[in-house]
Amino acid sequence: MPFASLGLSPALVHAAEKAGFVAPTPIQTGAIPAILQGADMLGAAQTGSGKTAAFALPLLQQLQLSATGGPRRVRALVLVPTRELAAQVGEVLRSLAQHLQPPLKVAIVFGGVSINPQMLGLRGGADIVVATPGRLLDLVEHNALRLSAVAHLVLDEADRLLDLGFTEELQRVLALLPARRQNLFLSATFPAAVQALADGLLSNPVRVEVPHTPGNEPAIEQRAIAVDASRRTQLLRHLVKEYNWSRVLVFVATQYAAEHVAEKLYKAGIFASPFHGGLSQGARNQVLQEFKDERWQVVVTTDLAARGIDISQLPAVVNYDLPRSAVDYVHRIGRTGRAGESGMAVSFVTADAEAHFRLIEKRQHLALPREQIAGFEPTEVAAPPPTTDPQGTGGIKGKRPSKKDKLRAAAAAAAAAAIPAADKKGS
Ligand code: AMP
Repeated sequence: MPFASLGLSPALVHAAEKAGFVAPTPIQTGAIPAILQGADMLGAAQTGSGKTAAFALPLLQQLQLSATGGPRRVRALVLVPTRELAAQVGEVLRSLAQHLQPPLKVAIVFGGVSINPQMLGLRGGADIVVATPGRLLDLVEHNALRLSAVAHLVLDEADRLLDLGFTEELQRVLALLPARRQNLFLSATFPAAVQALADGLLSNPVRVEVPHTPGNEPAIEQRAIAVDASRRTQLLRHLVKEYNWSRVLVFVATQYAAEHVAEKLYKAGIFASPFHGGLSQGARNQVLQEFKDERWQVVVTTDLAARGIDISQLPAVVNYDLPRSAVDYVHRIGRTGRAGESGMAVSFVTADAEAHFRLIEKRQHLALPREQIAGFEPTEVAAPPPTTDPQGTGGIKGKRPSKKDKLRAAAAAAAAAAIPAADKKGS
């Protein structure tokens, strides 16, 4: 089905063609006609499914049709959870908007950088603002923009907005918007808090869900390699060489590990850079751009890069440390295999992480064989779970002592203290 049959104007069909989009993806086929009709939408789609263009194309068309020629007022607001996603979504909107006459102005605002250039950029108004919530509120407080004319609200990656603790800011932004508006809500996952937000926000939404079917499932080959914790960096070097990946995103658990692993790889002659929230915004932008330009072969990152970031032709991701949850696992591996490309997602499973990986597999309905790579066969066994009860009543891993346990322990200690020293010696 061509884009033209979805109700898009010739200018926007042309913009889609210029962006290299030949045919709409399933979420675009579902979302574009509904959004053009002014409906609220609840979009549940896999990461990398083309969801940005699914709302960007019809949004731009509506804004073009409702343009009055008067002073620019913010008529569309796109809220996103991270600075990187703001930049990325804003650029998609800008590149599509450049084909329109009269042109629409897209402002991109996010925290972590000086507010002044963003205030200057908002002089003369903007048609669309793409923002992270905190900085948006700062700009409103500085009178740099007003939200009273917003007719379209997009919440992109709503699950992540809530995960990152933006609930309060979100409510403050919502209170500044006119009640009559179109609401577009996109989220990869729908835990209870996200569903509640959607229920409160949307009226009679059109639901666009892209089912996980073999036809639209990104072609991601998932693998689990059993390896000793201490040999993971060497195994990573081995895989980078063996597969000759042009680029690979490696996930670790901490900022320190990102620095440490990247440094080790770099010293071993692999162009590797860390990327994490401890870097300045300038450094983060630079690493990401250089990675996109293929100047880094390996980027070692925390979950900061797990969502939203779109790097086309990323052939592989590696879970050097496993993600905390099954949801994070989905987001991490979704960085590869985007827009119909194939990709490989490798998880290193150490003996201590085996039980945790089994839980992730269970939630994801996966059962990956544990591979062993010649020369890296694991030798470690899982450490026994720590016991919390010195009385040996059968400790459960991770269980904190209850009030009763503490009282029992205190009573036992008091009883022991009451025994005369001579008795103790003999015992
Ligand atoms: P998104 O899910 O919005 O992050 O998009 C993922 C990738 O798919 C981006 O690189 C888009 O440029 C690309 N994309 C979006 N729509 C299409 C389409 N209709 N055909 C081909 N690629 C697309």
